[in-house]
Amino acid sequence: MASDNLTAVLYDVNDIRLEQRPVPEPADDEVLLEMSCVGICGSDIHYWVHGRCADFILKAPMVMGHEASGTVAKIGKKVKHLKPGDRVAVEPGVPCRYCAHCKQGRYNLCADIIFCATPPCHGNLARYYTHAADFCFKIPDQVTLEEAALLEPLSVGVHACRRAGVTLGSNVLITGAGPIGLVTLLTAKSFGAGKVVITDVIDHRLGVAKQLGADYTVRIDPKASEKQTAAEIIDLLGDRPDITIDCTGFEGTIRLAIEATASGGVVTIVGMGSNEVTVPLCAAAAREIDIRGVFRYANDYPTALAMVTSGKVDVKKIITHHFTIEDTVKAFETAKSGVGNPIKIMIHCDNSGNAKK
Ligand code: NAD
Ligand code: ZN
Repeated sequence: MASDNLTAVLYDVNDIRLEQRPVPEPADDEVLLEMSCVGICGSDIHYWVHGRCADFILKAPMVMGHEASGTVAKIGKKVKHLKPGDRVAVEPGVPCRYCAHCKQGRYNLCADIIFCATPPCHGNLARYYTHAADFCFKIPDQVTLEEAALLEPLSVGVHACRRAGVTLGSNVLITGAGPIGLVTLLTAKSFGAGKVVITDVIDHRLGVAKQLGADYTVRIDPKASEKQTAAEIIDLLGDRPDITIDCTGFEGTIRLAIEATASGGVVTIVGMGSNEVTVPLCAAAAREIDIRGVFRYANDYPTALAMVTSGKVDVKKIITHHFTIEDTVKAFETAKSGVGNPIKIMIHCDNSGNAKK
């Protein structure tokens, strides 16, 4: 067994260190993974820049990374469905399995979930990492390890579309064309949505959205009122959207969502912004608009994997940059600066030298 376990550890704000850690041993129900790809998520940048993300605060050094894939190197005694050499997507949150939420299948709401790179839990941006075997999904030959890592954000899109009730013919407005808005767009289209409109303030991202199948893109004019922007969207669609999925978390876009959505429709909030926002709640209630939250995903990995396996969804188009684990700090700096229009940045952990720069 190799002894090189280079690991990316966040010690403090602006302080990521690459250090050697022992190669861990899998417990009976775990697998040891030789990590392959780990994508950078907005929350990783939050911890690096601010030392916190929402109510989670970095109090001790934490291994980064949660959008990951790898190859099974060793299995625990009780593991039956995986063997060394299997390539897997890693679902990063392992719940308690015993509480009411877990038993009801809404394990994303489990208070005791251990979620990679959410303090105080370590992530998997390392050469080797152990994970609960039942939260590792074997990928077929035609799915790449890059795509497997992207099942993490894609599962957020799947969960959002399920929560929103996107189905054949739904007209959907998505606010925000970041990685999450884009995977939500891909999912909505693959769930059979009719027309999808997506908004952003960055032309490049809207261009990518168009390539990924958005029917209409709207560049938000910060000076326009929500009513004006809603009117523009309704004009494009020929009707109000049945469903709006907010993928920014900003007050303005949530207000726009309520303004634009059809009476009896659904506004789903994926974006995580301020805890308190001012929105026309009574107006939404009077039009029977359901407002629903989204927190990560539960039982959505298999669907995300099926979408990619079938070739129906080309999620890898959101990858714009590649780095090796040795260049983790450069990767984070690129994500923060926005130079070169990064959307999804992929870090390659294997030292086989196959990271494409
Ligand atoms: P991101 O910051 O890359 O994307 C947000 C996009 O919104 C950017 O492209 C930005 O230009 C755009 N934007 C800014 N102002 C806008 C406006 N007024 N109108 C339209 N677009 C606007 O982030 P991301 O990684 O795509 O994540 C999106 C949001 O989803 C974040 O708030 C993130 O915290 C949240 N998130 C939530 C979950 C969950 O489980 N609920 C999971 C992952 C991410
Ligand atoms: Zn639980």
